[in-house]
Amino acid sequence: MTAREKKIYSQLRKSGALMEGHFLLSSGLHSPDYVQCALSLKDPAKAAALGAELKKIWKGPRPDLILSPALGGLIIGHEVARAFGVDFMFTERDNNIMALRRGFSLPAGAKVLIVEDVFTTGRSTMEVFETVKKARAEVLGALSVINRMGGRSFYFPSASLLTLDLKVYSPDDCPLCAKGLPLVKPGSRTVVKRED
Ligand SMILES: [Zn+2]
Repeated sequence: MTAREKKIYSQLRKSGALMEGHFLLSSGLHSPDYVQCALSLKDPAKAAALGAELKKIWKGPRPDLILSPALGGLIIGHEVARAFGVDFMFTERDNNIMALRRGFSLPAGAKVLIVEDVFTTGRSTMEVFETVKKARAEVLGALSVINRMGGRSFYFPSASLLTLDLKVYSPDDCPLCAKGLPLVKPGSRTVVKRED
């Protein structure tokens, strides 16, 4: 980890955004790690600082505007837009299709930088990308606070403040279950009982 990554890592740990334990993920897999980026953004001053850090790691051309997928990208996208001094817009799902709503429209040819809290599968970033293309604007690239794509990448430039290689285990082959650690469903504080 670079000095910047170490600093971001410890800030995320302190805010509770990165948790260690034994978690049941929505995929059904078990993991010793859980990421809840919203917890690192609840302090507006820290959110603004993360936005300024993301501006620093962007090496491409200056964007005309920042575009983020709701809900995860809202706060950090807004703060990156503040750092660049440009407008911020967001996409949201309309009948499950990512779209610009609320009267937002992208000027044709506008240079757009996509900002997310976490790159996980990359799906929402690609959906925002398609929205930009439909509007005949240009995607410069994408930024996120955390990258957990496991080495996969987009075919346009992207950068993240912190890359995490998060382990996942199948319930039948989980060393944490083997140790008898209680399984927690994140966000619920409840301990999940295994039905064996
Ligand atoms: Zn387990």
